[in-house]
Amino acid sequence: MNNNLRLIDHPLVQHKLTLMRMNETPTDHFRRLLREISQVLAYEATRDLPTEMIRITTPLVEMSSPVISGKKLCVVSILRAGNGMLDGVLDFLPAARVGHIGLYRDPQTLEAIEYYFKVPEDIAERLVMVVDPMLATGHSAISAISRLKAAGAQAIKFVCLLAAPEGVAALHSEHPDVEIISASLEEKLNDHGYILPGLGDAGDRMFGTK
Ligand code: URA
Repeated sequence: MNNNLRLIDHPLVQHKLTLMRMNETPTDHFRRLLREISQVLAYEATRDLPTEMIRITTPLVEMSSPVISGKKLCVVSILRAGNGMLDGVLDFLPAARVGHIGLYRDPQTLEAIEYYFKVPEDIAERLVMVVDPMLATGHSAISAISRLKAAGAQAIKFVCLLAAPEGVAALHSEHPDVEIISASLEEKLNDHGYILPGLGDAGDRMFGTK
């Protein structure tokens, strides 16, 4: 499928994902696993950052060595489940700025309704990494990314744990410039917009609210 989708099939990521899917995995393990996988997803999402050479001096010699050049980073969490990925991403990218977008799904229409929006003022100059563990219908992702573009964001990646084919297709059709990085392409959505086989409600599982 050429939907701008990059799947991370690293054996450790797949192993941890299996543990997260299991119904009996407790909240604290679920949270820790999501944090650990998010570090790897952040690593993959930043794989193609441009670098430039600078001259440095080691204790022994002078040399040319690469540093990141160009855009700085901003991680945007789609509340509330995105916050489960934030700590892991920031473990790997500690200097990144952070934005938050509050969206909830209307239970009838599954449309995304915004209730909060706060991002860095210089978002236009940053590579924006939107995080949300579940790309289901794609409504939240599409709405968050449209809002970020309206605020000036120009370079955006979407990082998730599980992606449904329906969500990938919808996001790609609305925002073809946005690369999707995911640990899994799932089978389908059920009638309530949940991902199958999935892992249930990511927010409830990470915060223990059900
Ligand atoms: N959000 C979730 O938390 N789980 C799903 O399966 C779909 C959307």
